[in-house]
Amino acid sequence: MNTKCKRCGALQTIEHILFHCRFARDVWNYGPWNSPLNLSQVSSFFKKLHASYNLIMLPPFGVLGNAFPWLCWTIWIARNHLLFENRHASATSTALKAILAQKEWKSVQPNRPRSSPKVILPPPQVLSNSPHMVFCKTDASWKSDLQAVGLARIFTDHNAKRRA
Ligand SMILES: [Zn+2]
Repeated sequence: MNTKCKRCGALQTIEHILFHCRFARDVWNYGPWNSPLNLSQVSSFFKKLHASYNLIMLPPFGVLGNAFPWLCWTIWIARNHLLFENRHASATSTALKAILAQKEWKSVQPNRPRSSPKVILPPPQVLSNSPHMVFCKTDASWKSDLQAVGLARIFTDHNAKRRA
């Protein structure tokens, strides 16, 4: 069995194929995130996967969820096509296949209620006890079946009396 990468001749390891080969790095640079995934300083596959959850998906790509497994999958498929069928694919088409596969997968999933992400707020801090201070309490809700948002605010003074 040939243990050298067919693209560059380096030792063919999973890490090399998925992350370190020039082709793979080019594919990762087309990932649908606000910044590229840092592949060099994160050592293991699972640490890279974990780091990918901190990336923000760019809305124009129209995908939700993490693109990391989809990019791994299409890089691996591109490797197999090259190795077994001598079929070449560009980094851009490989990245595009990952995004389209993710969108296709998402489109056939049944609509399930998603749990709201937990938001941990810092404890409130009162900067002063001025009698002129006004407090604002606000809340919002989202009703997905109506595609509508509701927003409410209550203003109170330091005695918790409502203001206009
Ligand atoms: Zn290579």
